[in-house]
Amino acid sequence: MKIDILTLFPDMFAPLKESIIGRAVKNGKIQINVHDIRDYTLDKHKKCDDTPFGGGAGMVMMAQPIASAIESVDPEHKSRRIFLSPKGRVFNQNIVKEYAKLSDLLLLCGHYEGVDQRVIDLYIDEELSVGDYVLTGGEIPAMAVADAVSRYVDGVINEASLNEESFSGGLLEYPQYTKPQEFMGLKVPDVLLSGNHGEIAKWRKEKAEEITRKNRPDLLK
Ligand code: SAM
Repeated sequence: MKIDILTLFPDMFAPLKESIIGRAVKNGKIQINVHDIRDYTLDKHKKCDDTPFGGGAGMVMMAQPIASAIESVDPEHKSRRIFLSPKGRVFNQNIVKEYAKLSDLLLLCGHYEGVDQRVIDLYIDEELSVGDYVLTGGEIPAMAVADAVSRYVDGVINEASLNEESFSGGLLEYPQYTKPQEFMGLKVPDVLLSGNHGEIAKWRKEKAEEITRKNRPDLLK
């Protein structure tokens, strides 16, 4: 899978060089290309934003640098072009699986008050939100999308992890424990030490249902 990220702040993507995603990039399982929108501006002062028509607070990212960046990175429109935006459909695990089937993703990060609507109308396939709150930019949402989708690319993580985790069976995950068996007076539940796989599976299912009922009853509907 190839993920192209368009941003005014490429240095913000250093975290994607770490840990599991960093390793997947190094091993060639995924390709993540971060493009600086500023490299595409035709303005001699490298300006990429301006005041909004109609007045109002803040600055709006200009259409030309973004349009030129998209045309250069995805000239044949092979990528699903996604604009990270609080106005989009809300990201979830079903969308992760949908994107994981694609070979190319393009993630456009807004900043300031957002981007000129004409770029969205002309170039973007869909707007995607990471939740009902407003962040300063689309960089953290783009990282969330790149991370979540990369996990589903073959060979990036153990398939068993994907089958037994929150949302996979419509439930949140059961509690996990590791060594030591006792920590600050709290013991690991006996059943997990029993070696009885049937009982362990039963306990985990009950706990998964319990935590889902408590924290996300909407998932049980
Ligand atoms: N003025 C915009 C509004 O009211 O909808 C918010 C702009 S926000 C300060 C700047 C940029 O951050 C957005 O263009 C978008 O790219 C990104 N962003 C902020 N919150 C987001 C969210 N919940 N999901 C995805 N992207 C978000």
